[in-house]
Amino acid sequence: MATVLTPPIAPEQTLESTARVFLEREPKPQPQEVPFGPLRVVHAFWLAGMSCDGCTIAVSGATNPGLEGLLTGTLPGLPKVILHHPVLSVEAGDEFVENFRLAEEGKLGAPFVVIFEGSVPDESIAEETGGYWAALGVERLPDGRHRPIPTAEWLRRLAPKAAAVIAIGTCATWGGIPAAAGNPTGAMGVMDFLGADYRSAFGLPVINIPGCSPVGDNFTETVAAVLLFLQGLGPLPEFDELGRPAWLFRDTVHHRCVRAGFYEEGIFAREYGDRECLVEIGCWGPVVQCNITSRGAINHMGGCMNVGGICIGCTMPGFPDRFSPFYQAPPGSMISSNTSRLVGSLIRPLRRLSMRYANREPRWDETGRVPSGWGHVKEPSIFERAVHFFYDKWQFWSAERPGRTDPKEMYAGGYEVPAVRKRREARR
Ligand code: SF4
Ligand code: SF4
Repeated sequence: MATVLTPPIAPEQTLESTARVFLEREPKPQPQEVPFGPLRVVHAFWLAGMSCDGCTIAVSGATNPGLEGLLTGTLPGLPKVILHHPVLSVEAGDEFVENFRLAEEGKLGAPFVVIFEGSVPDESIAEETGGYWAALGVERLPDGRHRPIPTAEWLRRLAPKAAAVIAIGTCATWGGIPAAAGNPTGAMGVMDFLGADYRSAFGLPVINIPGCSPVGDNFTETVAAVLLFLQGLGPLPEFDELGRPAWLFRDTVHHRCVRAGFYEEGIFAREYGDRECLVEIGCWGPVVQCNITSRGAINHMGGCMNVGGICIGCTMPGFPDRFSPFYQAPPGSMISSNTSRLVGSLIRPLRRLSMRYANREPRWDETGRVPSGWGHVKEPSIFERAVHFFYDKWQFWSAERPGRTDPKEMYAGGYEVPAVRKRREARR
C-alpha cells in the first residue's frame, strides 16, 4: 500500500463529498471490515483506466435491474448503492476525490466495492517521460509539488479494503483493445494487475464481466447477486474459473443464436443483410461465450446477430488479436459449415416434407382442397401422401390419437363425430 499523502485541500475548506454527507448522517461509524448484512448503504467506486466510457453507457441503459433501482435502494433486500463515478457523480474536483480518500483511509463507515472500467495501463512506462496514462485527482508530493493520481494507483490502494472488485468490460477484464498487439501503454486487465493471489476484504478474487461493450444487465444483475450475498440473503453466485458469472457466460453465443437453425441446416449468408447464418462472412459465435442473443443489448432488444452483425469475440480473453482479421470466415468454420451443408442437404428436404404436412388442416385432406383466397396451394403428390401415411402410423404407433376413437370415449347415445365416422368408413 502506498503512503497516504496529505490531500491538497485547505483544512478550513468545507467538504461536501457524498461519502462525508452520509458519514455525518450516521454518527457511529462502523469498522471498515465488511459486515454480513443487513447493510443500509454500500459505496461503489468507479475507476476508469484506458477506457472509452462505453461500459458506463451500457450500464446506464440496464433495465433488469436498472441502475436507478440500485442507486435509490428500492430493490427489495438490497442496500442503497452510493455511486462515485467520474462522469455521473454530481460533485467535482476535491469534493469528488474526498470520497476516494475516505475509502482509502477506512473512514467510510460502510463497505465499498471497486468497479474498474477500461484496462490498467503500465504507469511506469509513462513515468519514464514524466507523464501518466489515466488518473483521477491530484495529491501533494513530499517536495510540495502536485501530481495526478493514476487510477491504477487508486486500484492498488482500494482493492485490499474493498468488499469486491468488479472489472467491467473486456478492457478491464482481459486488456481488450488497449492491450492489443503493438500498444504503447503495456495495458492489462485488472486480474493481471492485481495477480492471482488477490482477494478482496471479503475473500473474493476479481469478478469479471466482459464485453465490448458489455450487456448492461449482465453487470447490474451480477452486482445485485453479489449484494444479496453481502447482505447474507443469498449464496455467493457461481463464477467460472476466470471469474465470469457462470450463468451468463457458460454457453456460446451460437447456442442461443437466432440464426443457429440455419447453421444446423447448412444455409449460410453470402452478404450482410441476408437472414441466414453469418459464419461464412466472419462470425465466430460457435466458440465465443456470450449471452447477447438471448439477453439483447438493452431491454432485451438488439444484440449482434439479432440485428445482422457477426460475432467478433469481444467477450473473450483472446480479443481482439485472436479474432482478427475481422470480417473474414474463421479458418475452422470451413470444416464445420461444410459438414452442416452436407448433413443439411439430406435433412432439409425431409423437414420440408413434414412442414407441408403440418401446414394442412386434417379437414383439407378430407375435402381435397384448401379454401384460401390468398393463393393456390398444391395438393400433395401420391408420393407425399404415401410418406405421410407411414409417418402418421409411426407417429401414433404407441400413442393415442386425438379425438374420440376409443369406444369408451364415444358420446352417449352412439353419436359419432362425422369426421371420425368418415375415417372409420374409409378404413373398411
Ligand atoms: S450467425 Fe454466428 S452465432 Fe449465429 S448461428 Fe451463425 S455462426 Fe452461430
Ligand atoms: S456476440 Fe460476439 S461481438 Fe457480439 S457482444 Fe457477444 S462476443 Fe461480442
